[in-house]
Amino acid sequence: MKKIKLPVLGKNDKRPFFPADGLCPVCQTKFKGLDGIAYLCAGSILDSLKHKIDDNEFDAFFNIGYHGKDSAVRDSANADIVNELKSDQFDLSFCSLGCIRSFLNQVIDDLEEELEQNIATMEEEDNSKA
Ligand SMILES: [Zn+2]
Repeated sequence: MKKIKLPVLGKNDKRPFFPADGLCPVCQTKFKGLDGIAYLCAGSILDSLKHKIDDNEFDAFFNIGYHGKDSAVRDSANADIVNELKSDQFDLSFCSLGCIRSFLNQVIDDLEEELEQNIATMEEEDNSKA
């Protein structure tokens, strides 16, 4: 599987859609001609609109992470899937639910690795103080 660089969307993206090339980011299958597309869709919507709001007023985000017990958050890890995107909503598309699973597995695998390293570093720091 091709490694997907995070965040997949950010403040420089003009359109809130990933990928932009019409190819599944996991397996490179063309979306055109498929029976359907699996998606992760997220965003925020104001409950009551008092005035027209421009997309530039939003900073959309989508994180997956683990928050540990350490007060300095040294036993934690976070992945920014989408960061500071100027949109109230965004779509991440894949050719199948299986490819969403592969994508999420990749993110979680990386997070687990980062978390293990962070905890090991924290324990080294604490042991050197003792
Ligand atoms: Zn795919």
